[in-house]
Amino acid sequence: MGKFNKLFENRSGKKFTVLPGLILFLYFVCWIYLLVGFKNSFKVPESRFSKNLLKSITDGKANLWFFGKILPFKGFEDSIMAVDGVKLPQALKIVNALRNHVDFRFLKAGERFWFRLSENGKIIERFVYSPDRITFHILSWDYKTKRYVHSLIVLPFKLRCRLIEGEVESTLNNALKELGVDRSVRNTVNNVVECLVPIRTSARKGDKFKVLIEERVFEGEVVPPPVVLYACYNGMKTGKKEAFLYREKDEKSSFNGHYSSNGKALIASAFRYPLRRIHVTSPFGWRRHPVTGKKSFHNGVDYRARVGEPVFAVYNGVVIKTGYTSHNGKFIVIKHPGGIKTYYLHLSRILVRRGWHVKAGQIIAKSGATGRVNGPHLHFGIRDSRGKWVNPLLKRMIATPKLKGKRLERFKNQMEHIKKILKRVESVPEKTVNCDKGIL
Ligand SMILES: [Zn+2]
Repeated sequence: MGKFNKLFENRSGKKFTVLPGLILFLYFVCWIYLLVGFKNSFKVPESRFSKNLLKSITDGKANLWFFGKILPFKGFEDSIMAVDGVKLPQALKIVNALRNHVDFRFLKAGERFWFRLSENGKIIERFVYSPDRITFHILSWDYKTKRYVHSLIVLPFKLRCRLIEGEVESTLNNALKELGVDRSVRNTVNNVVECLVPIRTSARKGDKFKVLIEERVFEGEVVPPPVVLYACYNGMKTGKKEAFLYREKDEKSSFNGHYSSNGKALIASAFRYPLRRIHVTSPFGWRRHPVTGKKSFHNGVDYRARVGEPVFAVYNGVVIKTGYTSHNGKFIVIKHPGGIKTYYLHLSRILVRRGWHVKAGQIIAKSGATGRVNGPHLHFGIRDSRGKWVNPLLKRMIATPKLKGKRLERFKNQMEHIKKILKRVESVPEKTVNCDKGIL
């Protein structure tokens, strides 16, 4: 600063002519701009948030935050480590603490996170992950228990229901594109309609479709992803097919999904889910091992599960192996018709024996934390008839072929609610109405 003042004095002392003085002045302006700009990049962008929100996110300490984004084709750990100075153990601790709260299946490039280090730089004291504009997962380091405490902030949003209808010219996706439907909505609609009719082989020009979607709106903008409440496809070859959304209070319930009006699953011959709730904490593929930190191939999928939750056989088959290893813990292998094998690892109790015939949806074990794990979960793997591991998340799974009892009752109520929204939305020219989540 001393030098700066001296030069400034020189300038006011008129030892410089105007032009070099101006150049010097601009030179310093640029430097100050760069320095301030640099410093700002380590601050939480305050303008985006209200003061209260900022305070609850940052713990009141607004200085020295580091920013990062989920990088394309990279996992969470690697994206955190891409921020200068972060080491693997720090990144792994964060990812393991988030594992139970965030479904890493839906991780997208560009999602933001920011964090603050302790004074000695050794501990990430606070970590914030924001998958969208309104959701904030916050981890704060507890020095007493030496663990992260998780909290979640979701900003209040409004729900809006919108009807999308049209005619297929070439493909459903193109028809949706022409209607100006954006990609996240198109993907959701495509997925539901694909379950409804064999769209690739049976779609014909002139087929009609109608889709009711529910969107979250925050400050006038839609926060994806949308939810498909109702889908109808009326085709020359397919006839008229309808599906309604059924959902339970537990967002991770495996029963949540689309069913035909009598409560039948859209696809009946699929695998069943191995658990009642489905929350993927670690997907299939290359990853850093949560315990060793080494890059390894994850040949199955990890579902969040407490110790003692019922584990179901995903399809009819014969138990060909049960046992214990230091890696797998207590495990079961089932062979299904066609030679496909399914693997269930880290169990606390095994309820079947080798040679037993099991049915789809039958309880075979209780989930646990045996073997090399850093917490209770179910590792589920599928091997095809040639012995190759396949991604269980690409396999279509259902909770039940048909809703029964209380669930069927609830579904019927929800269906009536959706029909009412449909009537309302069809009666207004903009085909959009405000709505609420309805009966759950
Ligand atoms: Zn696993």
